[in-house]
Amino acid sequence: MDAITALERLREGNRRFVAGTPTASSIPIHARRSEIVDGQEPFAIILGCADSRVPAEMVFDQGLGDLFVIRVAGNIVAPSQVGSVEFAADRFKTKLVVVLGHSQCGAITATLEALQNPTKTTSPSLQSIVDRIRPAIETLTDTHLKHDHHELVHQSVRANVRASASHLRHGSAILENLIQHEGLLVVGAEYSLETGKVDFFDGVPA
Ligand SMILES: [Zn+2]
Repeated sequence: MDAITALERLREGNRRFVAGTPTASSIPIHARRSEIVDGQEPFAIILGCADSRVPAEMVFDQGLGDLFVIRVAGNIVAPSQVGSVEFAADRFKTKLVVVLGHSQCGAITATLEALQNPTKTTSPSLQSIVDRIRPAIETLTDTHLKHDHHELVHQSVRANVRASASHLRHGSAILENLIQHEGLLVVGAEYSLETGKVDFFDGVPA
């Protein structure tokens, strides 16, 4: 399945989710499980946040074997995330990668708090997540946005998604090659906790 068809399938699934008319759970699970026991052919790779309110399969109304999902707090891109995307894109010929951030992301607000209060200590492991997010958002805290916390968080979520998508596009020779020669597409999106809607705002061809 090409990237644009895959993107449309995700959009349709999200429309069903928003409308409260999901269909994925109506597919007989036993039959589907035996169908995919010998191999998978996910049509999209999703790098999303670990937040319990944003399960990719549910918000896109997809079933077993449809999505290759990587979830980590703040949808950051560290080497193991790059490797996971490389593995799926190369092995399963999946053509679409979606970096999926979301409104009110705790990893983003934790990073903003760390920027505002640098002396506060945290665990090295948690700090490693903050350190990945910080470069994408620290310049925003010096703009007029610092007077509008809600908008600052909103713009920071988007800046972090853009940074992760850009990192996937340019931080891996394997992915770069797939983008140039095999039609791989990396897009960025934001899920709204308030409406359930996914807005694909970065890297979508016109
Ligand atoms: Zn989050």
